[in-house]
Amino acid sequence: MRRIVSKLPEVGTTIFTTMSSLAKKCSAINLGQGFPDFDCPQEIKDRINFHLQQGRNQYAPMSGVPELKWAIADKIKRSYGLELDADREVTVTAGATQGLFTAIMALVGRGDEVIVIEPAYDSYVPSIVLAGGKPVTCELDPPDFTMNWERMASLVTSRTKLIVINTPHNPIGKIFSEKDMLALQDLVTTHDLFVLSDEVYEHLVFDDANHQSVCRFKALFERSFAVYSFGKTFHATGWKMGYVVAPEDLMKEFRKVHQFNVFSANSFVQYALADILTNPASYDYLPSFFQKKRDLLSHHLAGSGFRPISCEGTYFQLFDYTKLSDMDDLAFCKYLTTQHGVAAIPISVFYTSQRQAGVMRLCFAKKEDTLISAAARLQRVRQ
Ligand code: PMP
Ligand code: GLN
Repeated sequence: MRRIVSKLPEVGTTIFTTMSSLAKKCSAINLGQGFPDFDCPQEIKDRINFHLQQGRNQYAPMSGVPELKWAIADKIKRSYGLELDADREVTVTAGATQGLFTAIMALVGRGDEVIVIEPAYDSYVPSIVLAGGKPVTCELDPPDFTMNWERMASLVTSRTKLIVINTPHNPIGKIFSEKDMLALQDLVTTHDLFVLSDEVYEHLVFDDANHQSVCRFKALFERSFAVYSFGKTFHATGWKMGYVVAPEDLMKEFRKVHQFNVFSANSFVQYALADILTNPASYDYLPSFFQKKRDLLSHHLAGSGFRPISCEGTYFQLFDYTKLSDMDDLAFCKYLTTQHGVAAIPISVFYTSQRQAGVMRLCFAKKEDTLISAAARLQRVRQ
């Protein structure tokens, strides 16, 4: 019988599934996969119930419910000063992952090179490969993972079409500064490239920093897709709701793929989100809310063998564990889960060429009690 030829021969089950399953099996505290262990605000659940009961249960318009697209455009204007045409430049997606995939499918063709900064969120490279493109990696090195724009520029060839960025960055927790964004703008305008900007952690920036969205930079936005996730903003990763904004010509192509990829995203949640998003208080509290959690985890790990690496944004904190073990990071994370009851994510999996860094990622989007209990367990890890 004919056998299927894999389009993604290198890909196995994602690390998030692997570590969450192991955590469950061992009843470990799961600081691996990124999701809150607290619920989304009651007010949103009430609005969802309301719209569900109102019978908003049929297909939403293909690009999203108008009220939600207007609320998104208002939010972008308020946050980044960019005026969008809500009907033509905003599309609601079934999570950021679908937005990223659809943008890549719309833009990347056979043989196109796409530069990805590694470590990188795990969906980018497989999506580029499925589109027939060639991922080209710009690697950042531990322990400080500093961005090097000269190295990035040296990777641009006549076949480069797209650069994927992620700020705030999962897994390294760094954010791009205004200077970084200007360097990117300079590079992409000089070489006539597109940008896919994953900004799902836009509200999770700490120590009074500002999120530097592509939406703040006119010449950059003209050639960008910016991708967002309601799952992060409203502590509801299970909804799989997000949105993409882009200039009209790019969005037109995006929607050609979107309509056959998913057609439209969940209807009643869109109406509920439209009600909530118009109130900036529903997301303005997020930086201080998550900064407290970041600081709590580091405070309770002080004096342990885990050395925190500076975290400017996201809900992930990297720790160097080389004082405690010379195991490779996957083995070490499995050891922590099975022997110490705390699940973590190894960093090597976020590189195409699986390099070792002696660094692991913990998710601090958890209740205080969870973070304190996990830290107490990690304090017991000895060399
Ligand atoms: N991008 C990054 C950097 C992420 O960490 C995530 C995590 N979940 C996503 C995209 C996907 O978001 P969603 O769950 O909305 O698809
Ligand atoms: N974004 C989440 C993380 O980085 C997980 C997403 C997923 O499970 N696919 O942990």
